[in-house]
Amino acid sequence: LDPGPGTKVVVIGLGSSGLATVRFLRQLGASVVVSESRPVEALGRADLSLLDRLGVELESGGHTGKCIEDADLVVPSPGVPLDLDVLVCARERGIPVVGELALASGRLKMPVIAVTGSNGKTTVTGLIGTLLETGGLHPFVGGNIGRPLLEIFLSGERKKKEKFEVAVLELSSFQLELSGDFRPDIGILLNLSPDHLDRHGTMERYAAAKARLFACQRAGDTAILGFDDPLVMETRVVADVSMLGFGEKESAQARVLPDGVRLHGVIHGQMVDESYPLAGTRLNSRINRFNAAAAILAARVAGCPPQAIAEGLQRFTPPAHRMAEVATVGGVRFINDSKATNTGAVIAALESCDGPVVLICGGRSKERDFRVLRESVAARVKHLVLIGEAADALEEALGDLVPSVRAATMEEAVAKAAALAGEGGTVLLSPACASFDMFAGYGQRGEVFENAVRALQSEKRKEE
Ligand code: ADP
Repeated sequence: LDPGPGTKVVVIGLGSSGLATVRFLRQLGASVVVSESRPVEALGRADLSLLDRLGVELESGGHTGKCIEDADLVVPSPGVPLDLDVLVCARERGIPVVGELALASGRLKMPVIAVTGSNGKTTVTGLIGTLLETGGLHPFVGGNIGRPLLEIFLSGERKKKEKFEVAVLELSSFQLELSGDFRPDIGILLNLSPDHLDRHGTMERYAAAKARLFACQRAGDTAILGFDDPLVMETRVVADVSMLGFGEKESAQARVLPDGVRLHGVIHGQMVDESYPLAGTRLNSRINRFNAAAAILAARVAGCPPQAIAEGLQRFTPPAHRMAEVATVGGVRFINDSKATNTGAVIAALESCDGPVVLICGGRSKERDFRVLRESVAARVKHLVLIGEAADALEEALGDLVPSVRAATMEEAVAKAAALAGEGGTVLLSPACASFDMFAGYGQRGEVFENAVRALQSEKRKEE
């Protein structure tokens, strides 16, 4: 894959990853056309003037297919569905359709640690970055979060201090679908639960996309798997790759214990027995002990010394909107888990709450079936407060188990949930859905929730 001078590449989609792809391709000397579904008025001024400066042609307001007529390569952005007419058409014509990972493959002259899974990617990727940094390395941390992957190659980005020594990448199933022969030195598959089935169609296809992480690995590489997840354990890894695991199972080299993580076993030919207590860190919740175990194992395999890992665990602050304690108001504890956009995250959230929970749930559904929540809801939820487009589907799947009420806004949901929870209760926002029916994103949804809780708090204070 060598898009240099004289080749014509069409980039589909002008998000942050599309923009980085364009800049990367121009740096290689390829001629580039961008095709974007939004009309030109909806695009950012800065982005348009960048295209102008780079001499890149733009087709906006839809993909006509004309631009691919003489293309040598088509690069869809990760969010673009692969059954888009223009992509089907490209494949029919025999034009290669590849993603940013395939473009990066072979060019990354540094060790690569790549993290995928249905939940926990951002936390684990960020934590590995912090652990390596504490160990004295300068990692590039990005991919599906923060900086788009191809920025790693952009010479303009590399200020003097930015000599990356290792890449820590969060990868989505979308990115892995078109990963070509990309291979990570250390690949991590955290867990697999239904997500993005609106795009992948079936769980099998979704799992197959995730498993591509390991497809091109070779002897000397490492595959780290979540040993407690039966679907993850069905994933094939290449023979000769060192397979390590994390979880509560005894066979896991990174054992999750009630108060920390124990590394125990042979890791790359060396017998290791180390304890990493998590009390006093911000990672001491059930979910984050799993994430910490995966990250510690990866950092250790990458050569990070135990002392730096212990220090890094103390330093790390998990990202917002993931099981974040907001406040306790009138004896009711409020937890913001707005980032829980699939059922797997909600199940994990409920597992880590003790006592009956009032669950605020709903939004724009990515899944067809919420019945996978039944067991956890029956065990831990005393009342549902349903919001957004998925309210009917949620009620249908869970309504016979626990009572439910509807709320039209987040403020209404918080008020109703607070009243239902009562003193000593917990209100958990863990929506199992995307947010775009009511909010600009999960971040805004979480902020609106937190603001509503704080408003309730100041009302209570006034009453007192
Ligand atoms: P991702 O980047 O995969 O979306 P995040 O770290 O952003 O992962 O977390 C997304 C959601 O999943 C949050 O609701 C969080 O509480 C939950 N979560 C985080 N880690 C895990 C895990 N290991 N297993 C299950 N759920 C998790």
